[in-house]
Amino acid sequence: MKNVLVTLTSVSALVLGPAVGPAAAQNARALLQAADNAAGASRVNSIMYTGTGRISYLGQNFTTADDLPRVDMKTWSQTIDYGSKSAKEEMVRVQGNNPPRGGGAGFPITGEQRSTTLVSGNYAWNLNAQGQPQAQNDQAEVRQFMIWVTPHGFIKAALADPNATVTDREFISAGRTLRVVGFTTMGKYRATGEFDAQNMLERVVTWIPNPVMGDMQVEIRYTDWRDIGNGIKAPFHTHMHQGDHPLVRGMNYMDAQASDVKANVESASLTVPDAVRTAAAPRVNIQTTKLADGVWLIAGGSHNSVAVEFKDFATLIEAPLDDARANAVIAETKRLIPGKQIRYVVNTHHHWDHAGGLRTAYAEGATIVTNELNKNFYERVMLVPQPRSLSPDRLSQFPFATTGPGPGKLETYRERHAISDGDQSIISYHVQGFNHAGDMAIVYLPKSKILINADMGPPAAGTPVADVSLNSVALYNNIKRLKLDVSQHVPIHGNPSSNTDFERTVAPAAARARPANPEGQ
Ligand SMILES: [Zn+2]
Repeated sequence: MKNVLVTLTSVSALVLGPAVGPAAAQNARALLQAADNAAGASRVNSIMYTGTGRISYLGQNFTTADDLPRVDMKTWSQTIDYGSKSAKEEMVRVQGNNPPRGGGAGFPITGEQRSTTLVSGNYAWNLNAQGQPQAQNDQAEVRQFMIWVTPHGFIKAALADPNATVTDREFISAGRTLRVVGFTTMGKYRATGEFDAQNMLERVVTWIPNPVMGDMQVEIRYTDWRDIGNGIKAPFHTHMHQGDHPLVRGMNYMDAQASDVKANVESASLTVPDAVRTAAAPRVNIQTTKLADGVWLIAGGSHNSVAVEFKDFATLIEAPLDDARANAVIAETKRLIPGKQIRYVVNTHHHWDHAGGLRTAYAEGATIVTNELNKNFYERVMLVPQPRSLSPDRLSQFPFATTGPGPGKLETYRERHAISDGDQSIISYHVQGFNHAGDMAIVYLPKSKILINADMGPPAAGTPVADVSLNSVALYNNIKRLKLDVSQHVPIHGNPSSNTDFERTVAPAAARARPANPEGQ
């Protein structure tokens, strides 16, 4: 039997070998050289796009099935220097006529929001509001890779890969055949590009790592190619999706229309600021505070978790950010509550910064408690057992068999979910009338009268009425609706505070604002 298999394998290798092997690779080279001639990629050392458009907040949609929340780019510019592998993107964002539904830092925008992101080789940074560089070196790899999927960068990087291959793809409904080139760069990133009959790059499909989506698909369409002189052509229109999946398609991430494109601009290469060059690698920081008997706040980063001890098990409220944070929070929970299994992880909402560690808690064996709106996305996208090639995590490296046994468990609810042993309880309540997330929960601990919220404040004590956010007003209205007896607020972002301060600060704003958004629109 073994011999037969060997024979079959060698026969098919003989038959198929030449068709998909070196000949295909050679075709890619010829096509890429034609594409280089057509767009003038080799003549482009640097390039600067300026224009306007729209940009979205990744992983911050109202529900998992909605498109990403978007704002307008009142101004936009992107400068790339291929030789030094540097890129700078600047934009001024305004809310425009875009619906204020969904989340994101500073969303919805009041006034203008400036953003400057930069990369140079293995260094990456942002500029803050004061124009000072903020190191983002853990972003450098992906930002550098994105240089190689720009229109001219694609051709340069594909030409640099001796193993680049090409295949025909027939778009039958459109009645035409495109040629698709695939290449690998930086040792692991794969990109594919569709070229038309004139050898122009129409579309790039690629993948970047993401804690929720895994190898997350990115699609970039380049249209409106124009001659910009010197035998160089550039696309004036760019349209990008991020995070599309058969279950959640149509995630519009960016759309930019250039008014001007200039090649070989002066001082396009960037100098890495000393503060960025010497910045320490970010590390997971854990700081624990006891909030009540059997209740601990696990802080120390941008997002908190709360560990709760029950008679026979432990429970974690929120597993945010990513695999690294979640593993540290789990280890801390085991230190605080030794010898008891983490049976549940309670999730406030599906936004990726709040859900990015759920896979890890799931790999630990915990059952995920979340709103029923998230069931499909969590089961069929976020928790899938497929490998993650770009950034493996605990669940992808140690998957459960799909036949079981394994946790494979979600507990979903519409309005209310309770975990209780008769003494300690955790109750999740679905938040109503809230624009930030349709699945948002506030989490109440009746024994200690602690209320945990994500992205709803509370505002600092003494915040003027006019500055109290609609999010905090929604928190206030839901506490009243549910008649919750709260003594302490424990936010996922920031420090605990008293309900006395909350009442004093938010009640006047709630009286003015009512009803904020009765139908959650
Ligand atoms: Zn959120």
